[in-house]
Amino acid sequence: MPAPKKGPFLLCRARYLLPFAEPDRSERIEDGYVLAEGEEILEVGHFTEEIGRRLEENYGSALEVMGDPLADEIPMINAVLLPAFVKAHGHDHEQPLIGIAKDQALTAWLDHAVNPFTGFMRSRREELSEELGCVPQLAVYRMARLVDIHYGITASMVHHCNFNKYYLQEIAQANEAAGTTMIVAVGGQDRFYVEEVLDSPGEAVERLDEALKLEGLKRTSFCPGPDQLFSNSREQLIPLKRWAREHGTLFHVHSAEEPNTTRWFSEEIEPGMTPVEYADAIGILDEKTVLAHQVNCGPADLEILARTGTRVVHNPLANTILGSGMPPVIEMMAAGIPVAISTDGSGSADNQNILNAARLAAEYQKALHQDATLMPAQQLMEMITVVPSAILGLNQGELAPGRQADWVLVDLNRPNLIPTRVDNLVENLIWAADGSEISTVVASGRILKENGKILPFADGTRPDEVMRDVQRLSERFIAHIRTSEELSGTGAHR
Ligand SMILES: [Zn+2]
Repeated sequence: MPAPKKGPFLLCRARYLLPFAEPDRSERIEDGYVLAEGEEILEVGHFTEEIGRRLEENYGSALEVMGDPLADEIPMINAVLLPAFVKAHGHDHEQPLIGIAKDQALTAWLDHAVNPFTGFMRSRREELSEELGCVPQLAVYRMARLVDIHYGITASMVHHCNFNKYYLQEIAQANEAAGTTMIVAVGGQDRFYVEEVLDSPGEAVERLDEALKLEGLKRTSFCPGPDQLFSNSREQLIPLKRWAREHGTLFHVHSAEEPNTTRWFSEEIEPGMTPVEYADAIGILDEKTVLAHQVNCGPADLEILARTGTRVVHNPLANTILGSGMPPVIEMMAAGIPVAISTDGSGSADNQNILNAARLAAEYQKALHQDATLMPAQQLMEMITVVPSAILGLNQGELAPGRQADWVLVDLNRPNLIPTRVDNLVENLIWAADGSEISTVVASGRILKENGKILPFADGTRPDEVMRDVQRLSERFIAHIRTSEELSGTGAHR
């Protein structure tokens, strides 16, 4: 006898369905549906009247149908149904920094935007908490959850760098309530960084041990996330990678992000070695090490990354805005290195529009190589769904039975998406969409956004309150930096 069905059951039928699933990841289905039971996908495929009758008969009142509640039959939503996006590298503290310290390179930007802001939240914690009704870090992390949901991102690896590393309970609280899936890469550094955040030996490892003691977490996990290779000595990196191996977690670090720090690294910090050669020499590269950026990447680095199975996350928005350059993505993929496309934090990218990040990645490589055939839309879509999900070891990124029930609807009632047909569907998502068409977002079978509106979090947090808090916080911060001493200390090469 089959196991009794428990439910609840959530059914979504849309004009187009893109499962991105095996055996044919490029399959495009007209009139498709997905059915979830609880947090998991039960069925995916082409919808027929017969299927509709069967579902209504089998599940009756336990079946929740998305779309027009007044429809007589199961409504077909005029939208594209596809897996929710997976972001393999971001920072949840940066949304209040959009538009701040623009037209500056990476280390200047860290000194003028990220580090003063996170330091400000830490030093003014009490008075800001009183004003906001919650600790400022929590308000900021909630804001990042809102922005991810806005753009259809339901799973992420959040690099919790600099002063944020002290606030693990807060980011876990924000994530659990928001209903997204998160790996928190817990930051650390012991050299060439703002003095106040430097770790003494053992502190970074202790922080991870403490994180594991946090209770009741369902969708949040932790891994080592040293901030930069230049800001971490081998005495710090080796024990952190050992911790990752012992606990079976990923290991995440920024690497070779921009030319000045990379040159300085090879000339002075670890003479004669590129950041990747350094990481390889101390034994911290393998298929569970995920490097963010790797912009400055020579042939010897490519060979090492391919040989060790190291993964790379490409962040084209941040790499262009900060003038860092762009990594050799085509060469990486040709060498068999798994590459995901991501947004980085909102402070450098200034948005979390991951469709836009994918488009920019392709635009740059096509122009650079003078080859329009590079990085077609299907491949780009996989680089923000299937590929990052595999890199992060998650059960998302594709719509298939047994996968986590995370999907989005792209509204087709938009002038910029007319005409959309089955033959230009995937292409339109990359080249014609602006990211705001993500009208509905479902994560673990729960609706987080519906008809363009983000719903309150599970703990009752209201989106309008979060936005008001972060607006206020950003105003306090701007007033603060006008009168405070300029910060300097990230990267000693200047
Ligand atoms: Zn980053």
